[in-house]
Amino acid sequence: QRAEWAKLVNEQTVTADGHHVELAANIGTPEDLKGVKANGAEGIGLYRTEFLYMGRDTLPTEEEQFTAYKAVLEGMKGKPVVVRTLDIGGDKELPYLNLPHEMNPFLGFRAIRLCLEEQDIFRTQLRALLRASVYGNLKIMFPMIATVNEFREAKAVLLEEHAKLESEGTALSENIELGIMVEIPSTAVIADLFAKEVDFFSIGTNDLIQYTMAADRMNERVSYLYQPYNPSILRLVKMVIEAAHKEGKWTGMCGEMAGDELAIPLLLGLGLDEFSMSATSILKARAQLKHLSKSDMEALAAEAITLSTAAEVVERVQASTQKNN
Ligand code: PEP
Ligand code: MG
Repeated sequence: QRAEWAKLVNEQTVTADGHHVELAANIGTPEDLKGVKANGAEGIGLYRTEFLYMGRDTLPTEEEQFTAYKAVLEGMKGKPVVVRTLDIGGDKELPYLNLPHEMNPFLGFRAIRLCLEEQDIFRTQLRALLRASVYGNLKIMFPMIATVNEFREAKAVLLEEHAKLESEGTALSENIELGIMVEIPSTAVIADLFAKEVDFFSIGTNDLIQYTMAADRMNERVSYLYQPYNPSILRLVKMVIEAAHKEGKWTGMCGEMAGDELAIPLLLGLGLDEFSMSATSILKARAQLKHLSKSDMEALAAEAITLSTAAEVVERVQASTQKNN
């Protein structure tokens, strides 16, 4: 089987009925590019920049960040690279910021909330990203967006830094797409309003599931509630994708669900445009998608969202994929 998958390394991802989807990789550092290439990713769907800030005693400088972003953009040779701005807090701590202890870190001062408050940190990162933009196909994504205002504020900061760099004579890319993670239910619910303002969405199911089900993703006692196939999650995913498409925008997914064998048929059927996963899952997913028909999966997804439980959804998907094999 692995030998079969390996043959797909330079292929596009096309379904049995001729529909193209993009299979991208999640990375944490420029060193991950080796695996990205070996597994034939069509882009980077999530560059988690937290790792630049972790395992050290001080913030990374603009130069350090520029070097890392440039390496990834150049390494991808014009393929899309979605870089997520700093998503610290929750399960990812930065001791040197001396942030006060919180009762509910997953519901607390993290990610874009922190960046909009500690703007020096945010602006340094944005400048490094903008300067690196000329070396490839950069897309910038903000994490943990809960309100349209947060997106507008973050975008305004980005535009300010863009204008400053321009006036300093720095070369910048003219077309940097700007998107958001959809990982908070409030944002999924009004995705139609966001879709008018953003260039793309990337659904972060790792957090979207925990916030929708109110089940801490790190807590074993409530892990039974962490249900990717719950119809509530599928309906939110559908709303987000449809809202984007209505405005001519694209939707990706960069949570674990995007690489899940059972979820892939449903996500294809719901119209997902880009699946971003760990590089080692890409060839297997490509092989699977080649055998799926998008129109059949549309029917499957339409039925799945009418079912009442996650178990019923799983049963339905298994029945349909067994029939196809
Ligand atoms: C997510 O929440 O789905 C996601 C991709 O982000 P992280 O796992 O880094 O929170
Ligand atoms: Mg997240």
